[in-house]
Amino acid sequence: MRRPLLHQALAILGTLIPATLAALPAAAGYIDHLSDPSDIGRNKVPRTGTQRVLVLRVEIGTPPDWSEVAGFYDPGNAVDGFTRYWEVQSLGVYRPEAELAPVVHYDTCPMPAPHDDCVIDRGDVTALEPALALLRDALRRAHDELGVDFSRYDQNGDGWTDGVAAIINTDVGGIALPVAELSETFPGFTPADFTFDGVRVNAVAVAKRSDTRNYLHEFGHLLGFDDMYNESALDISFPDFGWEPNPGSAWSRMGSGYGRFTSLNAVDRVKAGWATVVPVTSSLPAAVVPPVLESGVVYQLGSGNEYFLIENRRPSTVGDAWYPWDSDIPGRGGLAVYRVSDTHKPNPTFTIIPRLLECPNCNEFGPFIFFEQADGLFEYQSEAGFDHEKDEADFFQTGDELVSRPDNTLPVSRTNLVLRSNYLAGAVTGASVRNVDSDASYPDVVATLDPFTPPLCGRIPASSGGGLASAIPLAVAFAAVRWMAGQRGVRARARA
Ligand SMILES: [Zn+2]
Repeated sequence: MRRPLLHQALAILGTLIPATLAALPAAAGYIDHLSDPSDIGRNKVPRTGTQRVLVLRVEIGTPPDWSEVAGFYDPGNAVDGFTRYWEVQSLGVYRPEAELAPVVHYDTCPMPAPHDDCVIDRGDVTALEPALALLRDALRRAHDELGVDFSRYDQNGDGWTDGVAAIINTDVGGIALPVAELSETFPGFTPADFTFDGVRVNAVAVAKRSDTRNYLHEFGHLLGFDDMYNESALDISFPDFGWEPNPGSAWSRMGSGYGRFTSLNAVDRVKAGWATVVPVTSSLPAAVVPPVLESGVVYQLGSGNEYFLIENRRPSTVGDAWYPWDSDIPGRGGLAVYRVSDTHKPNPTFTIIPRLLECPNCNEFGPFIFFEQADGLFEYQSEAGFDHEKDEADFFQTGDELVSRPDNTLPVSRTNLVLRSNYLAGAVTGASVRNVDSDASYPDVVATLDPFTPPLCGRIPASSGGGLASAIPLAVAFAAVRWMAGQRGVRARARA
């Protein structure tokens, strides 16, 4: 339903691309899925530590009931709110604490026709500039009239806000707007400045009041996560596009079909530095894979440009430390196996306009993320679509396996969709996920994990058996350890 409009919009944009590309400064790095993880400030908000986040409520016309919004953003909401979500996803590394600004009220919509009802369809690029003006005015009024002190929202002192969201009571498509960049992109835009109290607003996560689950998705963009679904069916990097809505990414807040309780996926958490990555460098006959939201543990098979990330996704129930997140995982869940092709990761030099056109998962046979579906049906690559809500069999459970197929070394394609650990291009990797037992040690999963062959030499002694080797900074590791210790306590109590 939403695709034709966006497609249309992108077609319009497409005519502008050559000039746009030429005119825009390079090295933006906004929503590049952490291809450049370091550019916190203009392009990304911090993703470690406790961070103060500003939330605007923009009210057009009759005041709605804002109590659900307030409850969701209340840092004291230790169950199903904004703070708790990111704290669980980051394994305690990142704790955003929202502050609600007083409501910014407009008696009538200040946008010009045809958007004078403040209704903006998803992907309507003609609304971009007037929406930017509205956002600028709402921020200005929050500052000038309502006493919001923006210096509170730059705790690291880099001159940029550490996270701003705007929730509006009209029907707007959720979007994360890099306002600093956009104000420079539109030369006629006045005022181009989003600076208040000496602090520049880098980006704003915009969502409509009624769509709570979208608040988290749009804020994910501010952290640097890209969309992991295929919406545009237009991709300047991979013209051989597909039409599937979500060919590569499943069970991710940044994918399609996410629900209120959907977590990030393994790729997201590894790129953010929120995972404890366990590289498999020699065969592990009985690797224990604890639930990822309890442990942060992600096993990695292979390295370089194409590798597998493996995590244990279990549905949470009351008593689990990560409840209610992932409570909508179907059945008993199991191992989620993602193939990551870093050659197809989002280009970190793209600015917002090419970013809208780029689609790292639009080539369903050569995506950034390829979800290996245990049932071998590849419904995510199917034109018939898939049932995201129900397909428990996509998780690796007892008896499932991902192994080499030396008898099939053709590239993956529409007519050659085979569950195998070979490279997408066909060559055997030697990697495997075997002897899966998802029942005996529930909620842990035990499996044999084999690395790519020939084995990676020299990085980790074989005798270590691929022990914990974290790619994350020390402070992050400490925070994760503290979190895990707390989680284990909770789990021990829950099981007792
Ligand atoms: Zn998005």
